[in-house]
Amino acid sequence: MNKFENYCTKFVQSIGSKEGAVSPSIVSSASFSYGSPETAEGIFNGSVKKPLYSRMGNPTTAKLESIMAEMDEGIGAVATSSGMGATTLAVMSLLSQGDEIISIGGLFGGTYALFDETLSRFGITTHFFDVEAFDAIEKAINDNTKIIFLESVGNPNMRLPDIKRIASIADKYDVALIVDNTITPLSVSPLALGADITVYSTTKIISGNSSALGGCVVFRAISENADKFKTQRYPFLQKFIKNAGKTALIPNAKKRALRDLGMSANAHASYQTLLGLETLALRLPRIVKSVETVALELAKYGIAVNHPCIQSHPHHARYKEDFQYGCGTLLTIDMQSKERAYDFLRKTKIATITANIGDSRTLALHMASTIYSDFDEKTREFLGITDGLIRISIGLENPVEIINDFIQATK
Ligand SMILES: *Cc1c(COP(=O)(O)O)cnc(C)c1O
Repeated sequence: MNKFENYCTKFVQSIGSKEGAVSPSIVSSASFSYGSPETAEGIFNGSVKKPLYSRMGNPTTAKLESIMAEMDEGIGAVATSSGMGATTLAVMSLLSQGDEIISIGGLFGGTYALFDETLSRFGITTHFFDVEAFDAIEKAINDNTKIIFLESVGNPNMRLPDIKRIASIADKYDVALIVDNTITPLSVSPLALGADITVYSTTKIISGNSSALGGCVVFRAISENADKFKTQRYPFLQKFIKNAGKTALIPNAKKRALRDLGMSANAHASYQTLLGLETLALRLPRIVKSVETVALELAKYGIAVNHPCIQSHPHHARYKEDFQYGCGTLLTIDMQSKERAYDFLRKTKIATITANIGDSRTLALHMASTIYSDFDEKTREFLGITDGLIRISIGLENPVEIINDFIQATK
């Protein structure tokens, strides 16, 4: 069955309850009473499966986590307060001082700054590569490399990675592969392609309506046989593997990040995210189709559009082969100068000017003057940020109305 069709059934059936309140209940409590000292002891040692304290997990959030894990065919998930919280949780649970990250693609501004400016202050080095630099990526791996980090679609450079090939490099050297799949939930399944961990900003297309900030990290199961996480690269994981077996990455992430750093999701945001998730499989195919329609029409009109559905795009073949469910809601247009880009943004009546993406509404933003304003020229060039670049996230509006509005805005 078509993946979107399959999840139309799965999401609504698993989010609504068959008994009692149909809509998920919001358990708005920071703490939970244990009733007896014996139960308290059991909860803390893990033998009793009841909520401990909302920083470590909440029943509403747990529902979101179980459906996100199912969506990605993972063993489990941890929801967080934001997408950056998800990335921080995933990477900080695996890194120590002196370690190295190999970062490939995009890259989302916050993630770039986390690696380049913040983690560098704690003795962690990141090497940045384009998606095509396979040899250089392989050469950069050494004993200190703990993570290969990849974005499923370059935001905003729109370059597409060969996830399978990068996963096979990660496997060859027993290094963890983390994929930021924010832009392509459902469309791309990183764990099935060989990744170990997926991170999401659920703020974007998963919620889809700008109502809640959130993130989620999905983990694969540890194998009963040989596994990269059983090697000397990750000595700190061994005690978790001994106690939790195939789910070991989850208690490690909860202890090293949720408990100690506190980027925990709250029940209200998890509830709003569940409401968004319920219709994801219905919204996404419409938007993916509209993105193609808009990109091709604007290109025909002579506007410099960047999207891999366009034949001249360097990753057009990869788009056709590996991204049959699309590559998300984004396209970019290059208006050649800041002045012309501002003119477009003043004239468009449909696009909402904001830093968000993946919304029900069409959104647009000039890149160089906003998200990338404090990045130096060399970094902007690496990330594909030109003076006239506008990132557009297509929404649920009628695509013909979007096209007509954009064409009038470029005049
Ligand atoms: C938005 C975004 C993030 C960060 O998510 P927040 O929820 O805003 O913290 C991370 N990665 C990508 C690709 C994003 O688009």
